Amino acid sequence: MTQNAVAGPVIGGEWIHQDGDHTTLKITRCRECEGAWFPPRPVCSTCMSSDVDEVLTATRGTAYASTVVRIGPAAFRPPYVLSYVDISGVRILAHVESDTALDPDTPVELRVGSVGSAENGELTSYLVAEAADDIAAVAGGAR
Ligand SMILES: [Zn+2]
Repeated sequence: MTQNAVAGPVIGGEWIHQDGDHTTLKITRCRECEGAWFPPRPVCSTCMSSDVDEVLTATRGTAYASTVVRIGPAAFRPPYVLSYVDISGVRILAHVESDTALDPDTPVELRVGSVGSAENGELTSYLVAEAADDIAAVAGGAR
């Protein structure tokens, strides 16, 4: 992962891929059954084939379900918003850059940012934000 000055731990940093302003995640796609998995894994969890590729997601997906977490780990500074996001054939759980839950099917884009703080600095991870424009028609494309 390419990153700027990050003081603290990065959650899921091994799965984050950044190219300029574009953030994607590494996933596994099975050559046998087309199954897609996040986080990436060496064996397909559907058919147990080890004939899998590590590929990158699209930069955008859509919110499947979202909620405001009011009581949670102090390091995440509740209240905070979590969403399941459908992207490139996988459903990921991500923090959301928002104070309110996202409506289902809201177009979102992947980013990297602070999701909390710990004794050893800011906690950084992938997260999603509502997509800035309507190009989200390609969301979840890149299969
Ligand atoms: Zn498979």
